[in-house]
Amino acid sequence: MIILGAGGAGLLCAATAGQRGRRVVVLDHADAPGKKILISGGGRCNFTNIHTAADRYLSANPHFAKSALGRYTPADFLALVDRHGIAWHEKTLGQLFCDGSATHIVAMLLDECTAGGVDIRLSAPIGAVEHGDGLFRVEHGARMFTAPSLVIATGGPSIPKLGATGFAYDLARRFGLKVVEPRPALVPLTLGSADLLFRELSGVSTEVIARHGKTAFREAALLTHRGLSGPAILQISSYWRHGEAIALDMLPDQPEGWLRAAKRVRPRATLPSLLRAQLPDRLADALAERLALPGDIGNLPDRSLDEAERRLAAWTFAPNGTEGFAKAEVTVGGISTADLSSRTMEARRVPGLYAIGEAVDVTGWLGGYNFQWAWASGAAAGQAV
Ligand SMILES: Cc1cc2nc3c(=O)[nH]c(=O)nc-3n(C[C@H](O)[C@H](O)[C@H](O)COP(=O)(O)OP(=O)(O)OC[C@H]3O[C@@H](n4cnc5c(N)ncnc54)[C@H](O)[C@@H]3O)c2cc1C
Repeated sequence: MIILGAGGAGLLCAATAGQRGRRVVVLDHADAPGKKILISGGGRCNFTNIHTAADRYLSANPHFAKSALGRYTPADFLALVDRHGIAWHEKTLGQLFCDGSATHIVAMLLDECTAGGVDIRLSAPIGAVEHGDGLFRVEHGARMFTAPSLVIATGGPSIPKLGATGFAYDLARRFGLKVVEPRPALVPLTLGSADLLFRELSGVSTEVIARHGKTAFREAALLTHRGLSGPAILQISSYWRHGEAIALDMLPDQPEGWLRAAKRVRPRATLPSLLRAQLPDRLADALAERLALPGDIGNLPDRSLDEAERRLAAWTFAPNGTEGFAKAEVTVGGISTADLSSRTMEARRVPGLYAIGEAVDVTGWLGGYNFQWAWASGAAAGQAV
């Protein structure tokens, strides 16, 4: 079999198929395998999440990921990590990281490929890809490879400077597979002039609940010189589309009616002082300025306090864009799951053609979910060929 792409999905697929006795070649244009693994999780690779479940993934078919995720679980990957003696820890929210370096994960995958006799060929462009008489023929540099199965594992276009391309989509379309519009995801959002006040607070971070429709994430938000970032914003960015608003609960621990209660207990307090007690000073001042309720809260009408509370609980931003594929950790959209078998990842109408990993229209939340999808979909195809 021929696997295009030596990232997480391609390498795990190759090792799985190779160890089942299949002859496997992996082709990549990059000069090293697993480059995204190396930079992931701040160099420590957040390689899985123990809370993995299909509802933590975005896809036009929310059920598609269940089969592969159910058959290759975080525990399966963890068993591999343990077998290789790689030390790890849970950071937060079920996120598992290497204690040492992401290089250990790449070395582990390469060892597993070696154990399966996998041939990995790098540093040359993929040229012609042809299909006929039940065989796929792929040009890689000056060489031609032929096999009865071909796996598309070239990922999505996020972070082009690491060699990421939209190659998977072009190839899939040539085989008649549909592609769900790819968009940058897990990406900072940019703000326009209406929200300029907040752009001036660059560097300020606070825990919020970020909301988009019924979706909500409670994590840190960071104000940047271009707009909004931090885990809560990256998470919500995957759901956001141009023209839509997001809302931030700036005080997620405050119960309803807290300002009326504060008015009774501390009537001489001011809104800025109350906000400063709970938020970074610069943010507290900026919010208070916008709420424009001067003087002691004891002198403010309850309805003004209720209105301030409502705004603080759902501070609305209308981002004017994202920082794009250059900064996006992943891509939402991709090769349509409607054209793939959820069990094997094989194209329904092109026997022998498979698509795995980020190239497929399955995108995880921040926190190790995307690698778990890469491993699980790679294993599904590797067991099927
Ligand atoms: C900065 C950053 C940090 C991240 N951190 C995490 C994290 O901690 N946890 C997590 O779960 N996810 C993380 N992700 C997401 C995760 O890296 C991806 O979801 C995952 O790598 C996808 O694996 P893949 O094998 O499908 O694709 P990739 O890892 O992108 O591999 C694709 C391979 O195909 C090759 N390729 C691409 N185009 C071509 C072409 N035209 N010709 C030949 N070869 C080609 C590439 O060189 C690459 O080797 C992070 C992403 C980024 C960008």
